[in-house]
Amino acid sequence: MKIAFFSTKPYDKDFFEKHNHSHELTFYEASLNENSVRLAEGSDAICVFVNDKVNATVIEKLAGMNVRLIALRCAGFNNVDLEAARQANIVVVRVPAYSPHAVAEHAVALILTLNRKTHKAYNRVREGNFSLEKLSGFDLFQKTVGVIGTGKIGEAFAHIMLGFGCKVLAFDIFPNQHLIDAGVQYTTIEDVLAQSDIISLHCPLTDKTLHLINDQAIAKMKNGAMLINTSRGALIDTQAVVEALKSKKLGYLGLDVYEQESNIFFNDLSEEILVDDTLARLMTFPNVLITSHQGFLTEEALTQIAVTTLNNISAFESGTKSGNEV
Ligand code: NAD
Repeated sequence: MKIAFFSTKPYDKDFFEKHNHSHELTFYEASLNENSVRLAEGSDAICVFVNDKVNATVIEKLAGMNVRLIALRCAGFNNVDLEAARQANIVVVRVPAYSPHAVAEHAVALILTLNRKTHKAYNRVREGNFSLEKLSGFDLFQKTVGVIGTGKIGEAFAHIMLGFGCKVLAFDIFPNQHLIDAGVQYTTIEDVLAQSDIISLHCPLTDKTLHLINDQAIAKMKNGAMLINTSRGALIDTQAVVEALKSKKLGYLGLDVYEQESNIFFNDLSEEILVDDTLARLMTFPNVLITSHQGFLTEEALTQIAVTTLNNISAFESGTKSGNEV
């Protein structure tokens, strides 16, 4: 199959070329949108990532070029108009699971960094400043951690936090018996918000979870709570969170995803003017840590993403089902 890859970075090319044995891959740096879609001309399939825009207009144009498959090299598919794809008879596949540990461990990295301020200590020591002033944190041991969404990533995250000796509360529309057996207590979302010292989001972005963390949800939280989002940016109403940081209701914020991240995250904009005032404001808080959607960025996850995506494409080519159809 001829496959046009959108939004590619050098690591995508490295991992896909290493594991490809039968397909013709063309890598484009451009993200997919109504204008760049023409790059797919002559391809049988496209391969896209989290911020590619796969809306009805793009899908109509893909269908006009006889593109028959959209292969997402990620788990989330909130950026694809599935109904438009179904009507255009274009199959959509994804990578439902690739090292959930990669993302879960990154959430823990955000917690540890925000808490123990290792990012500040690193800079201080390198400048010859060995003062401990304002670096104090808190023990994670016996703190209450709330997990919203206990699928593959939330489950891995809950296990790590149990290992720290935390009390782990969870909310999910489908409770996970393995976690209950391991000591996680399922409760209402209100209870998770009210009792947790740290809240970590691991549910998908859907109509029901859009702005799950808004003014009302924040009002229910403990004063000074830590909020971590490694899932999808729009789970959080960013403006509400900015206000909660200003009023000190929220004590810490760790983000690997941001509502308006497309066109910003994954790009080197160090010589550009940042026009997103909300992101600029977030970056001014000393108790906010932002990474640009790197939760998936481990050797293991990148390998699994490439292998599963190529298998999905081969299964489609041979007329069989990979089981990863959306
Ligand atoms: P998953 O499908 O295994 O788990 C999602 C869980 O959320 C399920 O248990 C589901 O029942 C639950 N859920 C659904 N709707 C809910 C709701 N309204 N309230 C509470 N829980 C709800 O998915 P996963 O592999 O664990 O991934 C979770 C999310 O992480 C993905 O949707 C994706 O957005 C994000 N993600 C981020 C990165 C990154 O690099 N930062 C990488 C991979 C995935």
